[in-house]
Amino acid sequence: MLPSRTCTDVADGIGRVGRATVRTVTRTSAEGPLFEVVEPSGDAALPVVAHMPHAGTRIPADVRRAMLLDDAALERQRLLLTDWHTDRLFDWLPAAGASALMNRLSRLVVDPERFADDAQEPMASRGQGVVYTRTTDLAPMRADDPAERARLVATFFDPYHAALTDLVERVLGRFGRCLIVDGHSFGTLPLPSEVDQALDRPDICLGTDPTHTPTPLAAAMEASFRDHGFRVKRDSPFAGALVPLRHHLTDLRVASVMIEVRRGLYCDESTGEPLPVFDELRERLRAATFAALPEWVVRPVHPGR
Ligand SMILES: [Zn+2]
Repeated sequence: MLPSRTCTDVADGIGRVGRATVRTVTRTSAEGPLFEVVEPSGDAALPVVAHMPHAGTRIPADVRRAMLLDDAALERQRLLLTDWHTDRLFDWLPAAGASALMNRLSRLVVDPERFADDAQEPMASRGQGVVYTRTTDLAPMRADDPAERARLVATFFDPYHAALTDLVERVLGRFGRCLIVDGHSFGTLPLPSEVDQALDRPDICLGTDPTHTPTPLAAAMEASFRDHGFRVKRDSPFAGALVPLRHHLTDLRVASVMIEVRRGLYCDESTGEPLPVFDELRERLRAATFAALPEWVVRPVHPGR
C-alpha cells in the first residue's frame, strides 16, 4: 500500500439511493484522487461490482515528467485512450445498489485492465502492458526502465487491485456470488496499437471470459442489446472480462462480463465532450443491461432471509 504520509482514505460522501445507504471512499494522494470506491448497504444492495478502470484522466506530475512526450502529444494520447465519461455512462449500476470502483487516474499512469506480469499480457509486446512504453502510434512514450515500472506498479496498480479484490470479497461474503460488470468504451476507428484493425466496429462489444462469463448471461445480453437497437459483437474488437487474480480460474462464484460502448455513440471523439444524446444512450444501456441480468442478480437473496 502507499505510505500513509501521501495517501489517506477519505469518506467523502454518505448518501441514500433507494433504500440503500451509500458510502463513497476516495483514496487520494497529496495531488488528488487515485480511485473511488462506492459501497451500498441495506436492502437495495446488489451482488454486483461495477468497474470503470479507464474513465480517469489525472496524471501525477512525477509520472508526467518521466514521459517522452511534449504536452500536445500527451493530450492526444489522453484523448485517444480515455474511456470518456464511462463513470457517468454506467452510474445506474451504483444507483441501483451495485458496489463500484472508478479509477481517477489516467490509464497512461498504469493500466489496471492489464496483467501486471508482461508474460501473461498480450499487449505488452506492443508496448502497452501495465505500464505503457509506446503510444497508440507505437512511438516511444517512456524509457524502458524496470525500476520505474516496478515503482509505478507498487504505487498505483497494487493498491487499486487490492481495493477491487476487497470489494469482490465483501460482495461474496454478503451474497455468496458476485457479478463484475466491466464498463468501457472504444474509438470508432481502430488505433494503430490495437490488435483488431477491422473497420466494421459494433455499437456494443461484449467481452467474455471462457471460465467466468456464464454462457446464458452472454447470450441474454447479446439478445437484449440487439432488442434495444444496438449493433453487437461478442469479444470483437476486444475480448475478455476482468476477474481479480485471487479468483481467476479458481472461484466460480465470481462472474464477469465486459460492456464496451463505441465512443461515437455518446461522445465527440475529437474533443472528449459528451453529445446531447448522452442521457438517452445511457438510459438505453441501462434498460438493455437490466433486461438481461439473471434472477440472482436482480433479486438477490440476502443472508438471514
Ligand atoms: Zn477501456
